[in-house]
Amino acid sequence: MRQIAIYGKGGIGKSTTTQNLTAGLGLMGKKILVVGCDPKADSTRLLLGGLAQKTVLDTLREEGEEIELDAILKPGFRDIMCVESGGPEPGVGCAGRGIITAIGMLEQLGAYTPDLDYVFYDVLGDVVCGGFAMPMREGKAQEIYIVASGEMMALYAANNIAKGVKKYATTGGIRLGGIICNSRNVDGEKELVQAFAEELGSQMIYFVPRDNMVQRAEINKKTVLEFDDTAGQAQEYRNLATAINNNKMFVIPKPMKQDRLEEILMEHGLMDI
Ligand code: ADP
Ligand code: SF4
Ligand code: MG
Repeated sequence: MRQIAIYGKGGIGKSTTTQNLTAGLGLMGKKILVVGCDPKADSTRLLLGGLAQKTVLDTLREEGEEIELDAILKPGFRDIMCVESGGPEPGVGCAGRGIITAIGMLEQLGAYTPDLDYVFYDVLGDVVCGGFAMPMREGKAQEIYIVASGEMMALYAANNIAKGVKKYATTGGIRLGGIICNSRNVDGEKELVQAFAEELGSQMIYFVPRDNMVQRAEINKKTVLEFDDTAGQAQEYRNLATAINNNKMFVIPKPMKQDRLEEILMEHGLMDI
């Protein structure tokens, strides 16, 4: 069972990419569990056809510890099992701890069945605190992918996440599997993200183009693969699924200093205004 966490700046496309990617793996016949680790609880919507999943933490709060697995775990597209950890009451408690409570509950209730090929964690925000590093810290996810684009803030966040991965990689088995470029149509984006990934000692595992087909599918509450599997974007996500499935490059990343990051941005023409 490969346990994979997807990190990246807010709004960069983690949930969209994770759901289309897992749909692609599902179409390859893989058994998958997706754990949404964002208090927004929108990590599994497209797989579930828009069904708003009741979160683990809400269920725990309302029903106590005696909960049934099928109250929080629902099968979606290609029988991909979907769960949303949820978050603490706004203004109270630590979101990262909430995620670990939710994962602990899933383990206790037997959600991690031996037939699973993959578990995906779609984790909120960049690693700015110990809380959101929890799935790595606790050794739940061993394989990390960072979603980024050629925009400066996305790469800045990706570099910070790489620092978090490095920290837990040196004490445990956690490795960076690569950077997934989710394009924002920035000039020279592919070369920039490639250079950034190589500087980290890693790879750009795939370049996902920006395409309005994503929005069209989203408004129909579906992944692109379910909505129109003949679309070019559906093929892109199938290719991404194949790249992840075949990946053999797992590294302890070498995050860069701020000046080096700016240099790379400059070399690729992003900052010469
Ligand atoms: P995150 O989970 O990182 O916060 P989301 O996956 O919710 O981000 O993505 C934010 C929005 O970006 C989505 O509503 C989706 O419509 C859009 N989006 C993501 N990836 C693409 C893409 N490759 N092409 C077009 N739109 C995209
Ligand atoms: Fe929030 Fe992070 Fe602080 Fe937890 S550690 S309360 S997730 S900022
Ligand atoms: Mg999200």
